[in-house]
Amino acid sequence: MYDIIIVRNGEISVKKKNKAEFENALVKNIKYRLYKNKEVKIQKENGRVEISLANADAFEIIKKIDDIFGVVSMSPAMVSDSGYDNLFELIKRLIDFEMDKDKKTSFKLSIRRIDKSFDMQSNQMNIDMGEKVLKEYPNLYVDVKNPEFEIHCEFRKDVNIVYSKKILGEGGMPRGINGRACTLISGGIDSPVATYLMARRGLFIEAVHFHSYPFTNERSKQKVIDLVSHLTAYCGKIRLHLVNLLDIQKEINEKCPEEYMTILSRRFMMRIAQDIANEYECTALITGESLGQVASQTSLGLLATDNVVNTMPVFRPLIAMEKDSIIEVAKKIGTYDISIIKEEDCCTVFLPKKPATKPKMEKVLSSEEKLDIDKLVKSAIEKREILELKIK
Ligand code: ATP
Ligand code: MG
Repeated sequence: MYDIIIVRNGEISVKKKNKAEFENALVKNIKYRLYKNKEVKIQKENGRVEISLANADAFEIIKKIDDIFGVVSMSPAMVSDSGYDNLFELIKRLIDFEMDKDKKTSFKLSIRRIDKSFDMQSNQMNIDMGEKVLKEYPNLYVDVKNPEFEIHCEFRKDVNIVYSKKILGEGGMPRGINGRACTLISGGIDSPVATYLMARRGLFIEAVHFHSYPFTNERSKQKVIDLVSHLTAYCGKIRLHLVNLLDIQKEINEKCPEEYMTILSRRFMMRIAQDIANEYECTALITGESLGQVASQTSLGLLATDNVVNTMPVFRPLIAMEKDSIIEVAKKIGTYDISIIKEEDCCTVFLPKKPATKPKMEKVLSSEEKLDIDKLVKSAIEKREILELKIK
């Protein structure tokens, strides 16, 4: 039986100044995930996060927390009172629990002497303790370069801790540590991946989706709700703003050149998302654009959408990614199967026959002069529907 799980947060330690804040966020997120496991205790201990298991199964707990952002690696470990003799007893307990006594196995001891008042150096301790272990277990032999079994020991003032396994976690930064960002989410493959990648950098997520109801149907709306609900497993609670773009699209369709339809609606999406973002204290927008993927995603296309946003940066984590790699992430996080369900998208309503790939800014601006931008934006925002989505 293991006593604790050591949770490491590599990237956090790099930012020494924010260490406490980062660890607090990580503790909070782990507590949130393990709220049903009343028996475990999650705390900052020995300069990192530790989970006291009581009677809980270590690997069940590890499976529950291995996709939490900020968890770099985990080790199920055993703990005893301090002291050199106790350390030997503890090492034996670990070997008895984890190893096959009948199998020849190479091993290595790595003792860290954290209690510097002890009068033996770490090296000496390794040699001395190693000999004791060899005497006790004839099936073990030493291999310091490439051991099958490395026993890590922490010799501390108040406790001894030993472990051999290191299980990789999700990495990234604890949720919310870098504030909040507003994602523009469609029903496609890309934007859920973009949202996940930015949330992984420690952002809380606010989501905006544009539809053209009744031109787009209820099912396409439900698909986006399903996608965002799925993302809450990684991102925590997400508010989803459902904005009807139809009135705006009709206006553009009536008054502006056909080939500018996509770019002009895109600019409205960005304006509306920016206003919602500001209302909810977001400090960035997120989109799933990738250079050259479709007609509107050229440098000039991106410039045209970018320059209506002037109060925050636009994060485009997929900008340099190949479609194959994007799909790989979508499959890993489980959004792919939802994204590929065929539904109408608001962008396919009024789709121009030949969208402008090199939109001219003067033409964009002169087209927009025919529209009452502020009124259209305000009205779309006022009529939006807001859903609060949580982990199921
Ligand atoms: P996706 O797979 O995310 O739909 P895409 O390759 O289909 O991306 P576009 O349709 O050109 O590309 O959209 C580019 C980005 O604009 C999307 O990644 C998303 O961030 C945003 N976007 C597009 N359509 C919508 C929509 N209906 N609601 C909200 N955001 C949208
Ligand atoms: Mg799309």
